[in-house]
Amino acid sequence: MKKYGKILMVMLAALLVGSPAYAATEVPAKGQSEQAFDNKIVKQVNVDNIYNHVAYLSQEIGPRGAGTENELATVDYLVEQLRNYGYENVEVHPFTFPFGDGQVTSYNVEATKEPMKNHDTGQQIIIGSHHDSVPWGAGANDDASGTAALLELARVFANTPTDTTVKFVAFGAEEYGLWGSRRYAEAMAAEEAEKTVAMFQLDMVGSKDAGDLVMFTADGKKNTVTDLGAAAGSRVSELVPYSELGRSDHVPFHNLGIPAALFIHTPLEPWYHTEDDVLKYISKEKLKDVGDIVGAAVFEIARKDTPALIKSEVAPVPVDYYYEEPNL
Ligand SMILES: [Zn+2]
Repeated sequence: MKKYGKILMVMLAALLVGSPAYAATEVPAKGQSEQAFDNKIVKQVNVDNIYNHVAYLSQEIGPRGAGTENELATVDYLVEQLRNYGYENVEVHPFTFPFGDGQVTSYNVEATKEPMKNHDTGQQIIIGSHHDSVPWGAGANDDASGTAALLELARVFANTPTDTTVKFVAFGAEEYGLWGSRRYAEAMAAEEAEKTVAMFQLDMVGSKDAGDLVMFTADGKKNTVTDLGAAAGSRVSELVPYSELGRSDHVPFHNLGIPAALFIHTPLEPWYHTEDDVLKYISKEKLKDVGDIVGAAVFEIARKDTPALIKSEVAPVPVDYYYEEPNL
């Protein structure tokens, strides 16, 4: 319902106050070209695919506590989906973390979208989520929703040429202390971190009973990711504000100096970390909205013939978005 509302209003206003010729040629021209790029992603993002992944993860598998049999079933499902999309390079990285008196094994699952051979900026973008849940709940929103959106974006980008590498990483053991993302960041070579220009974390992006979308950075400052997210939001949905919060897998990347942000709806739903975080409280509209915004934001810098992005640079089209006090 909100899609393209802003652009249509600009066109309508131009038609009302200006000459039709002016409105038809100059005003929509820029919007149309940006919209055409956005549409390459937005028209492919299929909300039923996202919803079906949430259903499988939260109902067929259920609670996905790190180190459990259900985590292994989750990892199998992720690998199978990613391979079906054509990724031949799906990697499963086991790691251990301390728990009680011992060590528990969990897994990060990663697929890499390679850039075109003759159009490679040498840079990479990471899209992340966590596939584990709290052990007592099905985690439909936390974080089957983000993992489902990640899978769908991986499917869409598998067939979309880019000049930048895009990595899709579903982390394990987030709920016990961001272990998967910490282990992943620790294992990154300096060169690898240096070429990573943006990290988008999707965590809790589909609850009917949560508030609006916010982008959280670990230091409360704008960065490349929030610039791109705000710009994409204003084009395909609505402007997204930014705020300050850690508490998810964007933090270890921020600590490496990589522009990173958490996409989440706040205030949080009442079912957060309860047994009631289940499929019936998931909103298809919210899943589609976040998939569109993050997909369009990533494509803005990853598509062919866009200039290589310097870490400190803002998005190509500056957007006047705003800071909002954290509201959990
Ligand atoms: Zn989470």
